[in-house]
Amino acid sequence: MIGIAPVLLRAIEDHARTAYPNEACGLLLGRREAEGGLRVHAVKASPNRAPDPARAFAIDPSLHLALLSASGVEQSVIGVYHSHPDGAPAPSAADRAQANDPELAWLVIAADAGGACATRAFRYDGGDFVADVLSAEEHA
Ligand SMILES: [Zn+2]
Repeated sequence: MIGIAPVLLRAIEDHARTAYPNEACGLLLGRREAEGGLRVHAVKASPNRAPDPARAFAIDPSLHLALLSASGVEQSVIGVYHSHPDGAPAPSAADRAQANDPELAWLVIAADAGGACATRAFRYDGGDFVADVLSAEEHA
């Protein structure tokens, strides 16, 4: 399960709306919890550095490096999010080709021209993506 506060989920979906018709992307910071769960504590929006940002995404390498070097026990990079403008909230073939780290959670946001968003969570198990539960609730 991937836990995220509603305010952070809204921030991600607002980013997807703002970036439309391009893909929005960013990193999820947080902590691993017992039983393999992940808890998102912060989200960091990234510029989309892909050559064709309407069809692909690339996290800014300098942002990623800065966050990796700032990582600690309490907070580290635990995932990545990106949007699919007018697409499905599921990893694409390109996402499969890009995935390599089974430790990372993936949030995929489908965003349409009307501003509607649907967000789903996935884990990459080393061979393919598997759906995970996204729990957008305040931390108990
Ligand atoms: Zn994608």
